[in-house]
Amino acid sequence: MTEPTIQIRDLHKSFGDLHVLRGVDLDVQPGEVVAVLGRSGSGKSTMLRCVNLLETPTSGTITVGGTTAFAHRKPAKGRDLVALRRKVGMLFQALNVFPHLSVVENVALPMVRSLGTGHEEAVDTAIRLLGKVGLVEKALSMPGQLSGGQLQRVALARALAMNPLALLFDEPTSALDPESTMDVLNVMKDLSAEGMTMIIVTHEVKFALDVADTVLMIADGKVIERGTPAQISENPQEQLTRKFLAEHT
Ligand code: ADP
Ligand code: MG
Repeated sequence: MTEPTIQIRDLHKSFGDLHVLRGVDLDVQPGEVVAVLGRSGSGKSTMLRCVNLLETPTSGTITVGGTTAFAHRKPAKGRDLVALRRKVGMLFQALNVFPHLSVVENVALPMVRSLGTGHEEAVDTAIRLLGKVGLVEKALSMPGQLSGGQLQRVALARALAMNPLALLFDEPTSALDPESTMDVLNVMKDLSAEGMTMIIVTHEVKFALDVADTVLMIADGKVIERGTPAQISENPQEQLTRKFLAEHT
């Protein structure tokens, strides 16, 4: 067996008295796409945010690319934390781009700042990545001129610029209209076909079943069911999974 790109063991997270994650285990193999389904409030975002330490877990173990992100109740710090954040790119529902920078500079600047890439090379790479997300012709536009789906694809190009080991998606299309949603999902599908390792939290169940290798159903901070898309869609074991699928397809 190869080493998993992301390994989560017995992850717990509480906010004060609220015990949100109650022992989550997950291995994500290189090139694997894991789709995470579950009702609002079940802990999906918290789980993703723990992986790159946007939230500090309460207990459990998380390793990324073989290095420890969290263990013995301690998060990675300093250089290790910076390295972790580079390895794991994250896309949120909110459209996070720098409004005062052109599209190409949005993608190029983090390479200059975080990787020490020369500006000219960073711009070349940015143009190539904008091609990947279908936005070369918008390279010189300002974010204010772009649609939501285009902004989300800029954010995706920027995440790819860090050459991440894995990408985490937290409902990246839930703020988008149907057409923009399709544009973003298509780019995500291309990335999966190229072997990108991804965890995708989404309510787009059809897409999840189409693109994922493994589907997880989370309820009350626990993985209540996991399987291949065929197993989950054709033969769900849990009543909550059946209900969720019925409501979202
Ligand atoms: P999901 O993404 O599945 O909708 P979340 O992980 O966002 O669920 O939230 C799970 C639970 O944790 C919810 O009850 C939410 O209110 C709570 N929660 C999330 N973040 C915080 C926080 N920073 N402080 C307190 N409670 C939080
Ligand atoms: Mg969420």
